[in-house]
Amino acid sequence: MILVSNISSNVAEVRGRIAAAARKAGRDPGEIALIAVTKNRSVDEIRAAVAAGVTDLGENRVQEAVHKWRALGPIATWHMIGTLQSNKAAQATEFADLIHSLDRPSLARELSRLAAQRQCPIRALIQVNVAGEATKHGVSPAALEPLLETVVTLGGIRVEGLMTIAPLAADQATVQPVFARLRQWAERIGAQKLSNVEMRWLSMGMSGDYEAAIAEGANMVRIGTAIFGERPAPAGA
Ligand SMILES: *Cc1c(COP(=O)(O)O)cnc(C)c1O
Repeated sequence: MILVSNISSNVAEVRGRIAAAARKAGRDPGEIALIAVTKNRSVDEIRAAVAAGVTDLGENRVQEAVHKWRALGPIATWHMIGTLQSNKAAQATEFADLIHSLDRPSLARELSRLAAQRQCPIRALIQVNVAGEATKHGVSPAALEPLLETVVTLGGIRVEGLMTIAPLAADQATVQPVFARLRQWAERIGAQKLSNVEMRWLSMGMSGDYEAAIAEGANMVRIGTAIFGERPAPAGA
């Protein structure tokens, strides 16, 4: 059963905690965008979140996202936050206003080709594997600047910031340095004033660690569980 009433109170609670974390860091709560992560969630649950004031939705699988996007219509801004295969890039750019997971030259080449075809720039964040975890996608910090060079040379892609997924950790003290490092990279890249590169967004922080991310400068947080509850087990489990 779907408790849509909980979704609305959860959204209010998350917003309250975002605002408190922002104020604690001396920041304006209004500058932090909340993305509700809707993977494995039904269209009705998504509608409830939008009714509660959510304006941005994040999906990490292209097929699922396109299906929901078609069913729901333009009720929100959609974000592609998951690993993106090059052969799904065209579909991703159909529904997503912003791709958070540009992490390799082959994907940059495909996005650049699509942008040229559409004669419209594609907006993306570079996903960085700050902690160097083998299980996580994202460009390594050492390969970040070479990737940016490739992106700038190719053209057609507007880089608007960086994204990371912190290691799953029980305490915020472990993840906070990861978020700090992403911010430092953004500052360093921003200072280079590359064409079509603007370090406007720092997409970091999920249900378990968004307050630590905000303390380090996150202005896009991606929140699933804290809004919708624990993710349902896959069908048949
Ligand atoms: C699932 C997911 C989230 C949200 O995770 P929660 O812990 O449920 O808040 C955020 N970012 C990405 C990339 C995800 O895949």
